[in-house]
Amino acid sequence: MILIDYILHNAKQLITLSGADKPRAGEEMKNLSIIENGCLAIKDGFIIDIGLINDLKKKYLPKNYIDAANMIVCPSFVDSHTHPVFVHTRENEFEMRIEGKTYVDIAKAGGGILSSIKAVREADEDYLYELAYKRILKMIEYGTTTLEAKSGYGLNTESELKMLRVIHKLNENLPVDIIITFMGAHEFPLEYRNNREKYIDILINEMMPEVKKQGFAEYVDIFTEAHVYNIDESRKILTKAKELGFKIKMHADEIEAIGGAELAGELNAVSADHLGACSDKGIIALRDGGVIGTLLPGTLFSLGSKNYARARDMIKANLPIAIATDYNPGSCNLDSMQFAISLACIQMKMLPSEALTAATINAAYAIDRQKLVGSLEIGKYADFIMLDIPSIAYIPYHLGSNSVKKVYKKGKLINTDIPKL
Ligand SMILES: [Zn+2]
Repeated sequence: MILIDYILHNAKQLITLSGADKPRAGEEMKNLSIIENGCLAIKDGFIIDIGLINDLKKKYLPKNYIDAANMIVCPSFVDSHTHPVFVHTRENEFEMRIEGKTYVDIAKAGGGILSSIKAVREADEDYLYELAYKRILKMIEYGTTTLEAKSGYGLNTESELKMLRVIHKLNENLPVDIIITFMGAHEFPLEYRNNREKYIDILINEMMPEVKKQGFAEYVDIFTEAHVYNIDESRKILTKAKELGFKIKMHADEIEAIGGAELAGELNAVSADHLGACSDKGIIALRDGGVIGTLLPGTLFSLGSKNYARARDMIKANLPIAIATDYNPGSCNLDSMQFAISLACIQMKMLPSEALTAATINAAYAIDRQKLVGSLEIGKYADFIMLDIPSIAYIPYHLGSNSVKKVYKKGKLINTDIPKL
């Protein structure tokens, strides 16, 4: 008999999503690998076995049993695209957009991303940490235990490094895994609007080498869009990022298909995100380049868009897709992966099973953590949630509600006992 920490038992269904040795695509996105009344054997934060209670009892001597109380147990959510470090929320702009004000009107009123940049540059590091800490606590309550977080509201070396240090400290102190992305190419800072080459030069020759030296960031991301970084600028920055040893991500083809997806395919980005206007050619380029298409329906919903990424065409073309919140203060103040799943189903016609796959195992692939999270499998972290619902379809069906009752990260219950600061 092997001594273990506990057996999780009495789950109505254990939704494992196991068996994906590559990101799930096409018909496979519906395959949740469900075990009725399945149990988990857990030791030192890892899943060491999966099966039915009688089989596990024969092999293991658990110190404890954890009762899932007939709830559904599934992998906790992986939010592979967030911007949680900022100072003020921007609900005033939300109201202006409802009144029909344009991006330019908002910028003139002192809003937009430039207001976030100004505030982050001026902010004390501890204050930024405290604000983001509280935001991530909410994500945990909604069932997220692994997230990616980006810099990109500093846009100078000092402030970008400050943001990266904040994310690093959040990763150290919160019971979740945070994957860190440098996004100095989120926008052009005001002081370089008329000298873009100079800012790109700083990004390439000063910021990225310094960020690499500090060792906090794993990814470099860029906002490739008609009004921000064009294709040539994006290729130049991302090529340098790869040379420095970063993995790459892109905000691509959100509003207009300018070839962002094609570039992501060409450079074998780990993920290309948004894709609201991605063309057929773009979808094929992503698939052939081994890129995960990460869809962010919350952003388009929040902006009142009528057009969403063509998830059905992507699934049909065998492009593996993930979904994420895009949590940020401007275009999408969404911290719930459950609501992102609702929007994926309602607005993009994804089935609940496909959306759950996109929010777990495929999202793990989108941050290169598929060996540790995103499914319930032997050798992976015991990262799971208990949901008090009749079936998985209930998650997207019950709009804006939190169906997650318990959240476990590395085998420990975390949604009840985190210090609130
Ligand atoms: Zn974003």
